[in-house]
Amino acid sequence: MTPSIPANLEGKTILITAAGQGIGRASALACLAAGADVIASDIQADALASLMAEASHPARLRTTILDVLDTSAVQALAAELAPLHGLFNCAGVVHHGSVLDCDEAAWDLSMDLNVKSMLRTLRAFLPGMLAQAQRTGGGAAVLNMASMASSVKGFPNRFAYGTTKAAVIGLSKAVAADYVKQGLRCNALCPGTVDTPSLRGRIAAAADPEQAEKDFIARQPMGRLATVEDIAPLVVFLLSDASRFITGQAISVDGGVTI
Ligand code: NAD
Repeated sequence: MTPSIPANLEGKTILITAAGQGIGRASALACLAAGADVIASDIQADALASLMAEASHPARLRTTILDVLDTSAVQALAAELAPLHGLFNCAGVVHHGSVLDCDEAAWDLSMDLNVKSMLRTLRAFLPGMLAQAQRTGGGAAVLNMASMASSVKGFPNRFAYGTTKAAVIGLSKAVAADYVKQGLRCNALCPGTVDTPSLRGRIAAAADPEQAEKDFIARQPMGRLATVEDIAPLVVFLLSDASRFITGQAISVDGGVTI
């Protein structure tokens, strides 16, 4: 009988983008707790400092400023770091509105931050990850942040967002198909509505914030928003060897929205 492999990340080095707050931050803490060496990156220095202060195992955490819109910065970090075992591309932005609300600047930023950033990190980090997977016979895993919104199910006022998150799913399947024989897995994560600082910002920016919060909760069949702790264990699992037979999938963690 094959022994079961728990979702632990001991001995693995994992890079997480947008790890200063929200899902990325919770994922960094969960990966640390699961034994990984974590490189937590973001554009907010203060958020990274508070992450370091909260970390259970600061010796295994490195924080670094990384703007995923900056190709040179991504390449420079890849040149500096030892090859990764896991990469979680978490950075993304929500544009609120329909096609008629989306000018070219909003479209370009959404495509750049939500999709092209993954081109940057993959082109920079994949060669090292593949070489390491070949050399050691161990697996390498990429996880890309998509969303339930439009990538899985249509939602109003998520034109640019849904377009980009659908692209993330296609990108993840393409990467999975190209490297399935070389020990690299690639999946996309599709969360429901998660209580994070940016969601709170969207609620606060609504004409009627109280109603906006009720509306976000109403679209979740379980009657509550997800917490970041509802999402982070799945991140650990998908970056760990416990998910070694899962690749090219868009995996929902949406509290039943897409039942
Ligand atoms: P958030 O939006 O609250 O935080 C985003 C983080 O990204 C911040 O720390 C910010 O500093 C960082 N960031 C912004 N621009 C950056 C850049 N150019 N380079 C690097 N980092 C940058 O976090 P969240 O709500 O957890 O969202 C994280 C991801 O999860 C996004 O891709 C989002 O689309 C996706 N998502 C969120 C929800 C939700 O309901 N919150 C649902 C599904 C998917």
